[in-house]
Amino acid sequence: MDHARLADLLFPNVTRTPEDIEALYPPRQLPEGAKVTRFAPSPTGFVHFGGLFPTTIGERLAHQSGGVFYLRIEDTDAKREVEGAAEGLIRTLEHYGIHFDEGAVIGEDGKICDRGIYGPYRQSQRGPIYHVYAKQLVALGKAYPVFTTKEELEAMNAVDKKAEIKAKDWHEDQTAQREAMLRAREITLEEVEKNLAEGNPFVLRILADGDPEKKVPFTDLIKGKLEIPENDEDFVLLKSDGIPTYHFAHAVDDHLMGTTHVIRGEEWLPSLAKHIMLFRYLGFRMPKYMHIAQIMRLDENGNKKKLSKRDMGANMDDYSRMGYAPACVCEYIMTLLNSNYEEWHMQNPDKPYTDFPFNIKKMSNSGCLFDFDKLNDVSKNIISRMSAEEVTALVTAWAKEYDPAFGEQLARDPAFTQAIFAIGRGGKKPRKDLATWADAKPYMGFFFDPAQIDAYPEQFSIEDIKAALVGFLRSYDPADEMNAWFDKVKAVAREIGYADDMKAYKADPSAFRGSIADVSMFLRVAVTGKMNAPDLYTVMQILSKDETVRRVQSMIDRL
Ligand code: GLU
Repeated sequence: MDHARLADLLFPNVTRTPEDIEALYPPRQLPEGAKVTRFAPSPTGFVHFGGLFPTTIGERLAHQSGGVFYLRIEDTDAKREVEGAAEGLIRTLEHYGIHFDEGAVIGEDGKICDRGIYGPYRQSQRGPIYHVYAKQLVALGKAYPVFTTKEELEAMNAVDKKAEIKAKDWHEDQTAQREAMLRAREITLEEVEKNLAEGNPFVLRILADGDPEKKVPFTDLIKGKLEIPENDEDFVLLKSDGIPTYHFAHAVDDHLMGTTHVIRGEEWLPSLAKHIMLFRYLGFRMPKYMHIAQIMRLDENGNKKKLSKRDMGANMDDYSRMGYAPACVCEYIMTLLNSNYEEWHMQNPDKPYTDFPFNIKKMSNSGCLFDFDKLNDVSKNIISRMSAEEVTALVTAWAKEYDPAFGEQLARDPAFTQAIFAIGRGGKKPRKDLATWADAKPYMGFFFDPAQIDAYPEQFSIEDIKAALVGFLRSYDPADEMNAWFDKVKAVAREIGYADDMKAYKADPSAFRGSIADVSMFLRVAVTGKMNAPDLYTVMQILSKDETVRRVQSMIDRL
């Protein structure tokens, strides 16, 4: 077979050589040890929580080493592509503060464009480049076409292929496939010319020389030392529309773009043998690989399950709706990625997570467990350390979008709102009320409007409650310091036969009708509508005398 002739027949319009292409992608000038990583999503939907994992790792490894992190859109599967998904992906990643040095970006006109000299960064725009390498492989005798006649195409569309395969014995099917593959390899130039003249489409397959009995040692930076059986499958490089498969595009793109570390989901591990073969055939140096385990969750019965697309927590866009601050989600991811992150964070509470020395060796090679409780803990810690000003701005912005009426209340008097968020903030042990911005309303919405008023526990007599509230109003003076204020509450307790001291009460509860804690609760429910609320003295200070008195009086009237 004259392979050069075959290559010309199949790719008559390809005039450039791999050398021409290589010249367009000069080696990157980077410091020793700098890593070049990428995120390479297919625009088939939203960013999955699991997608933020390789992204964060790639970003950290690149930027920690003075390297480059870029975004490549893998849009070779038009059938699975979702309109607007690529733009959505870019915006979501931006929202999480993931910074790409180059790649696909959204231009001023709202459309995707390229930034950087190693593009195009959308695979759909790289067709001619793939064809240069495809032609080279054919010329080297390492790839061959498999034509489909129009009749065959029609027949293929007519039968339910899946049903057919199921009905057959699997082994028989495999053997038949192998035989068909070996026959297809024998195609002659005459047959090729005839097919081309008839306008029959072809797929380009690799000519595999591997022996699966032989194992290639391979080190994955997460999975460790592996033994990969050689590939013996003539897999497809170009589909019949000339579009490359993932395998082929991966090899060409990551080579040309200078990727040093490929970080991707472990679902690609079974394809590794194909990639090893491709890099060898193309004469490319292989990058290093990290295959990341799937994110797991616990189901109702406590069993580990894959965090699937439809699960709560999978879609990164849901986090915005739920009111999670991007910073909190990013930190949570760090705690999942590196077991020593939390310890570091405790020692360096004010440093951003990007200061943490992220280390591949500290990653677990089995699936991380996604858990909202843990995320909420991390989030509460972070928010508790934000300034009241920052929280005010972030909650207001969130509410304006997702709860406009509440957003308006918050924005009406920003100083008032900020005073509320300042409660219990700033000290060594700040309050941890908010995990999400959506928690703000149940926590402090009563300042604006005690919409729901908790019922007083039944064991208390209405008369006692009324007497306490009336007694409080009689002596209340907003100019009192906290201690003076509390002394007055104690006096009210004594007046109605309640203990003004918890020790005394605990020593002999039967001697009293109740305790100072109960009296405080009577007041708290009257003023905030809630059994649990932040420090009541401060709440009254912020609410103002008029509003405090109005609320207590209206409770008296209701009872
Ligand atoms: N487009 C591939 C995917 O979304 C990328 C895998 C890779 O990072 O190489 O799974």
